[in-house]
Amino acid sequence: MSQCAFITHSICAKHDMGDGHPECPERLAAINDALISARLMDFLQVHDAQLAEDRHLARAHTAEHIALVRQLAPEQGDVALDADTSMNRYSLEAALRAAGAVVQACDMVMAGQVKSAFCAVRPPGHHAEYDRAMGFCIFNNIAVGAYHALEEHGLERVVIVDFDVHHGNGTEHIFADEKRVLLCSSYQHPFFPYSYGPSIAGQRINVPLNAGSGSEEFRAAVVEQWLPAIEQFEPQMIFFSAGFDAHRMDPLANLHWSEEDFGWVTAEVKKLANRHSAGRIVSSLEGGYDLHALGVSTVAHISALLGL
Ligand SMILES: [Zn+2]
Repeated sequence: MSQCAFITHSICAKHDMGDGHPECPERLAAINDALISARLMDFLQVHDAQLAEDRHLARAHTAEHIALVRQLAPEQGDVALDADTSMNRYSLEAALRAAGAVVQACDMVMAGQVKSAFCAVRPPGHHAEYDRAMGFCIFNNIAVGAYHALEEHGLERVVIVDFDVHHGNGTEHIFADEKRVLLCSSYQHPFFPYSYGPSIAGQRINVPLNAGSGSEEFRAAVVEQWLPAIEQFEPQMIFFSAGFDAHRMDPLANLHWSEEDFGWVTAEVKKLANRHSAGRIVSSLEGGYDLHALGVSTVAHISALLGL
């Protein structure tokens, strides 16, 4: 029995925001191909993502936002939600399964069915605000999952590690007054979405990184800031907002990480999960727009989750 679940759904590759959009359906195929090439699929328990229910979404989002997404979902053609986020006829189901995957991952990990789970889903989530879609994101998948852990499973302390190159504005705002969540976030600065607040001890550790910076700056910040904060917080579960767009090959951003950096940070955080959280880790895909870099970086992340 594998210790790591791989939760995905074919509908997530049918959500398509148009030719040339970087958040493209091929991203999931690139991940799948890379996992097969690396011979990792045999180590993973593959599951179809379930649909999130409105009661799951409503913990992280306003009823108005959920209703509007349902109402705008087109039967044909495309509908714009913001300047760079749109829905086609498959997008509503894809968004519900993307959020549902993280809920499901949480349930599987809490039940001891697996130690960890990776959700290979799109649309991504961390820019989605409590009251609106934004930046390729419709629902905040990781926030929906973290609230599920708190409210459904009664956990009192969870950590979210967001290493996507863009700041997870939605996640930060949704949990702004939530003492049960410690958010550790790294991102290129100044850069989209230009909206984060200061670090707050025990609640939020923001690590802005200069354009052009690489492994050294990131790893130093993780060792000096994230790991001690997580250690002190003693989380009962750890979530990753796993965006791989800080890779040096990524066309949307300007950090110079390698795939090894994603493996490294995953392994470091996993040590703390083993110490405090019975090893419980739930990870969900965010960004990553160079298809090769996305594939090898996801392989590095999942290899570390598996302890390979
Ligand atoms: Zn991103």
